[in-house]
Amino acid sequence: MEKIPYKIYLNENEIPKQWYNVRADMKNKPAPLLNPGTLKPMTLEELSGVFCSELAKQELDDTTPYIDIPQEIRDFYKMYRPSPLVRAYCLEKALDTPAKIYYKFEGNNTSGSHKLNSAIAQAYYAKKQGLKGVTTETGAGQWGTALSMACAYLGLDCKVFMVKCSYEQKPFRREVMRTYGADVTPSPSNTTDVGRKILAEHPDTTGSLGCAISEAVEVAVKSEGYRYVLGSVLAQVLLHQSVIGLEAKTAMDKYGIKPDMIIGCAGGGSNLGGLISPFMGEKLRGEADYEIVAVEPASCPSFTRGRYAYDFCDTGMVCPLAKMYSLGSSFIPSANHAGGLRYHGMSSVLSQLYDDGLMTARSVEQTAVFQAAEQFARIEGILPAPESSHAIRAAMDEAIRCKETGEEKTILFGLTGTGYFDMVAYQKFNDGEMSDYIPTDEDLKPGFDALPKVEL
Ligand SMILES: *Cc1c(COP(=O)(O)O)cnc(C)c1O
Repeated sequence: MEKIPYKIYLNENEIPKQWYNVRADMKNKPAPLLNPGTLKPMTLEELSGVFCSELAKQELDDTTPYIDIPQEIRDFYKMYRPSPLVRAYCLEKALDTPAKIYYKFEGNNTSGSHKLNSAIAQAYYAKKQGLKGVTTETGAGQWGTALSMACAYLGLDCKVFMVKCSYEQKPFRREVMRTYGADVTPSPSNTTDVGRKILAEHPDTTGSLGCAISEAVEVAVKSEGYRYVLGSVLAQVLLHQSVIGLEAKTAMDKYGIKPDMIIGCAGGGSNLGGLISPFMGEKLRGEADYEIVAVEPASCPSFTRGRYAYDFCDTGMVCPLAKMYSLGSSFIPSANHAGGLRYHGMSSVLSQLYDDGLMTARSVEQTAVFQAAEQFARIEGILPAPESSHAIRAAMDEAIRCKETGEEKTILFGLTGTGYFDMVAYQKFNDGEMSDYIPTDEDLKPGFDALPKVEL
């Protein structure tokens, strides 16, 4: 057998020509989005008021397994795809494990993460519809950067509401977005009704994703020729991110590699959903079995401690309701939480798969995550994003366990991005000032109590 190279590269023609829609193979479909006013499932017409029409269609489509990727999007993908699948020989050696570790690296573009895969698709459909521009929120900043890049490429206007604490802590992220032509506003701001309302109630707030989403939606709905776009959580985003899993599977199939365990970090669920999609498809169709693991921060544990219920996607309650594992839309992680992965909910698609027992989840504490990040950087050379490092932690833990049991398990994890803009968090870790906080049941109660009462 040919030795497996450090990096398995595909060629340009092997970039997928279609996205894979895992919902088509799900027996239990994810629950529909609900209109927050009527509590009835959102219609195509209602969704098209918020999202571009083609994206609204993709959001509602839970039956078409393969959807063509327009050539223009594939041409853009060629600038940074196919992304490498790396055999982590150095890490295996350092851990002295019989496990075989692979990672799919999505940090190989200026935005530094997988988010560009969906940003270009969403910007493309907005442009095709003849819109002037799009609005969005960004937390850690990767999504805002990716969307700015896509909008610059297509000549679309891009308005980003950036969570205020991030806006202040990551000035360089902000400047990258402005370099790509985006208009960046710290959220909450006094430029929207919902922002002014939140500021009146909480004048000292440093913002949250849920609040920035409300502001971005308000501006989209009130501005002629604008729509709102979202970088995670939605089914359409998981669809676009399926390129990660499709490429990984093509590369592994070339060498006859079958992963036993697939691991991904989970914020809103888009990279994990994308990475696992073709593998989950095989599992759903009964063709193969895989252990699939979501890794989330112990400080924002939507899967491991959340409720599976309809909830608001945003603080201002202007978005459709989604049925998902959620900590409640008022939940905000404690102030010492350094990385991303801070959204209160989780993709409805992954929530249903998790509820059906088709995947598992675990939570990890941030100092352990940064220990893994540091070790990975020193051994494999890549400085990982804190978000990605949740998956690294879980993969390393599994490889260490394999050392004890002698299992030659094949592990695949998603390395979603790089951490160059997260050096304030790395500095805290290097100075020994990073701490962990796991919310108590008491802390979580108000979020659960405020879940909307929805009966279908
Ligand atoms: C946004 C982001 C995540 C988490 O988002 P998901 O939608 O859960 O994938 C993970 N890693 C990086 C680098 C990100 O930018």
